[in-house]
Amino acid sequence: MILLDGKKVSNEIIEELILRRNKIKDKIKLAIIWVGNDSASEIYIKNKQKKCEKVGIETELFHLDSNITEEYLINLIDNLNKDKAVSGILLQSPVPKTIDIIKCFNEIDYHKDVDGFSCISVGSLYLGREKLVSCTPKGIIRLLDYYNIDLKGKNVCLINRSNIVGKPLFHLLMQRGATVTVCHSLTKNIKEHTLNADIIISAVGKPKFITSEMVSDGAIIIDVGISRVDGHVVGDVDFDNVKDKCSYITPVPGGIGPMTVAMMIENILEAKENENG
Ligand code: NAP
Repeated sequence: MILLDGKKVSNEIIEELILRRNKIKDKIKLAIIWVGNDSASEIYIKNKQKKCEKVGIETELFHLDSNITEEYLINLIDNLNKDKAVSGILLQSPVPKTIDIIKCFNEIDYHKDVDGFSCISVGSLYLGREKLVSCTPKGIIRLLDYYNIDLKGKNVCLINRSNIVGKPLFHLLMQRGATVTVCHSLTKNIKEHTLNADIIISAVGKPKFITSEMVSDGAIIIDVGISRVDGHVVGDVDFDNVKDKCSYITPVPGGIGPMTVAMMIENILEAKENENG
């Protein structure tokens, strides 16, 4: 079994991104909007800020009260769209239920949409004309590329159909020639699909969701899930029992998480470079 070491690969990518950033003379700024007080969001935001700082990207955090109106948020996004000093805008999810997050994502100018969630970004991906691509799916593909895992003709079982993971990832996998089966909470007999897969990508958020009986010998396992058990971060995969059955596997932590952050940095630089023509 080979560990798909997202931590190591993302560190290498970050070193390359530092060199790329240093070729740009201007200041680069990412605006982060955080509505409410979700504790997981706080950790993710701090992590993103730390990585931006490392690469030489300034961040400005707009921490808004959970009672703000959608109109207020859209007005802020509009001002950030117009602000020439801002190259990227990130709206941290979740937001309070009173706010339509899809509508707000779509207010972000696609040139600054470093999460790739605006309708233009999503539609461009659908048509195979990617602009800024959402970070987790992009990070998964980059990790597979790093280990020379060719997707052409592979059967991929993707367990997730969310806007941020499953839907964009489905398109990226299909573009690379994979045959993709998308499973979700209404799928009957998931094991039937996982056993038929060369690659299983699980993003459910349930510890030990993928057991060894669900994995065929030599399969490749990408664990996107994040849960906390007794204060420890764990993925969806019963790692200890699955690891000897598969050919490659991502650890949690240290797999897709750091790849996601590296792709966010890459998207900010891409946004800045596009701005500069
Ligand atoms: P989400 O919107 O809740 O999506 C979860 C998906 O799992 C849905 O498609 C859901 O199906 C499916 N699901 C739930 N229970 C299932 C079951 N019993 N059998 C089969 N499918 C089931 O969450 P998300 O935002 O996509 O994130 C998913 C997980 O990935 C979370 O653990 C999150 O923390 C993690 N994540 C990690 C990263 C990273 O950087 N590593 C980035 C993003 C997300 P339905 O659509 O039918 O409800």
